[in-house]
Amino acid sequence: MEKKNVWDIYDTARLNEVEDFTKEYMHFLDEGKTERECIDYLVNRIEGEGYRELEAVRRDGGTLSAGDRIYHVCMNKSIVMFHLGSRPLEEGMNILGAHIDSPRLDVKQDPLYEDGGFAYLDTHYYGGVKKYQWVTIPLALHGVVVKKDGTTIEIRVGEEEGDPVFFISDLLIHLAAEQLEKKAGKVIEGEALDIIVGNRPLKLAEEENEAKKEKDPVKQGILKILQEEYGMEEEDFLSAELEVVPAGKAREAGFDRSMILAYGQDDRVCAFASLKAMLELQRPERTACCILVDKEEIGSVGATGMRSRFFENSVAELMALCGCQGDLALRRCLAASYMLSSDVSSAFDPAYASSFDKKNVAYLGRGMVFNKFTGSRGKSGSNDANAEYLAYIRDMFEKEEVQFQTAELGKVDLGGGGTIAYILALYGMQVIDSGVAVLNMHAPWEATSKVDVYETKRGYSAFLKYRGM
Ligand SMILES: [Zn+2]
Repeated sequence: MEKKNVWDIYDTARLNEVEDFTKEYMHFLDEGKTERECIDYLVNRIEGEGYRELEAVRRDGGTLSAGDRIYHVCMNKSIVMFHLGSRPLEEGMNILGAHIDSPRLDVKQDPLYEDGGFAYLDTHYYGGVKKYQWVTIPLALHGVVVKKDGTTIEIRVGEEEGDPVFFISDLLIHLAAEQLEKKAGKVIEGEALDIIVGNRPLKLAEEENEAKKEKDPVKQGILKILQEEYGMEEEDFLSAELEVVPAGKAREAGFDRSMILAYGQDDRVCAFASLKAMLELQRPERTACCILVDKEEIGSVGATGMRSRFFENSVAELMALCGCQGDLALRRCLAASYMLSSDVSSAFDPAYASSFDKKNVAYLGRGMVFNKFTGSRGKSGSNDANAEYLAYIRDMFEKEEVQFQTAELGKVDLGGGGTIAYILALYGMQVIDSGVAVLNMHAPWEATSKVDVYETKRGYSAFLKYRGM
């Protein structure tokens, strides 16, 4: 089947739109390197566009009607937005879903130690990473430290010009004969992913020095800096969430600037395209909803993951504010809804061609991706979308001239992966996996095509507008 290259189709006006859109997208990636930072960005952005907090409307005894825009945040890590349509909620919603957590290294709860003259922060990796990719690259530290009195200290070091960065060491090649014999999965072990944060001993007055001589002077130096710059003590690490991510901004890639190379595009690329489609939406018939969640990379667990009741509870609250009470109404609304469950798809990589089925893989530059199913070992763990629903989407995209491709992650039996699709499908709604193709997914720096990102936004916009089958 023929797949067009989007670059060949766009005219100059559209190519200019692509540039504006991707500039904004890259700014979003730079601002939102953690789920908390994404939520900050999103809330600022949508409040500026007339979205109101659901809890605030409820507290003020307000009611909602068509055209109202509402959002609800869970623990600063997940968000759901609604743009109320003219048709009753019981007829269902058009839902966009994506995740805003990304693979990274999390700082442990008792992390700071000194060894061999270096001060380290001990980490535990989060999500699926090839550990060997994380050594010897500049790293930044993002997150929060919550003190016992409830005050929150925000930490973001390593991103601005002039900021220090952190790093993980690797054995020099000259002594690596034994190391290089190891399998790639073992060559760097999880416990070896501790970041170096200092090398300069604290200088004490002589009498003080006598008493503290054995007490890790480099670590003491770091503690002094943490105290002076952030007002935090070592015990405050206990109630901190600090994430180690690749330092640096999103960049254009290639002489032709056709691609974007950045950390965390899985799945912030779909989150950003979803946000933009929501903001551009005018007077929808079906209520439009966008849910951006945390914890997808570790199985959608926890209060802020897709498997929590946050989404369902938010819809129940929304319906109550619209005067549509009761459990049955809620169930009808969810069962009648349509969803694009968005996550990144693996792009065909010619360097590893044998890992892909060339006819059923996504290509960079060929538009939005649909995965009828995901999963592994015979579609296990997958939401396998219905043919009827796919037909509805094909027809819609043809009318709206949205370029799309269908794909699988890779060859059967090589591995696989899951998404949040199956969780929403539990309500009996129509769900399909969709999103943007990514090269070197889950690596510290991932690549996407500018036109794919833009075309996916166009696809979401079409989806939100339509009334259903
Ligand atoms: Zn993902």
